[in-house]
Amino acid sequence: MKRTLRQHDLEAYLDEALPAEEMAEIEKQLRRDPALLERLSAVNARRDSGVHTLSEIWRRRRASCPDRREWAAYLLGTLDAAARRYMEIHVREVGCRFCQANLRDLQAQSEEDGTAEESRRRRFFESGVGHLRPRP
Ligand SMILES: [Zn+2]
Repeated sequence: MKRTLRQHDLEAYLDEALPAEEMAEIEKQLRRDPALLERLSAVNARRDSGVHTLSEIWRRRRASCPDRREWAAYLLGTLDAAARRYMEIHVREVGCRFCQANLRDLQAQSEEDGTAEESRRRRFFESGVGHLRPRP
């Protein structure tokens, strides 16, 4: 769903006052469209927020990244569909490198935990089987 963004859309984006899907959609358009980014910057510069550069806008946007705890919940599959969808758009389509790195890190960590757990289980199982195996 590509639509022309109006000033009030950009204002709402800066206020983070839009539904998650729309926030992600606008973010995606901003990354592709330098002219739109210029407009966002202009809207932002007219405000009294004191935030005037694009890099500051992006830094501020970072605040809307899901945190590590939320990514962990994502990996465990305990989030609702809307939250999952937003997070998937955020890393896959928007391509937030910060969250991609976070997610990779958590995945590696949980795989390590899984491997350790697996080998503990295997050792336990093997020792049990060793006991039960009939002697030749
Ligand atoms: Zn992010």
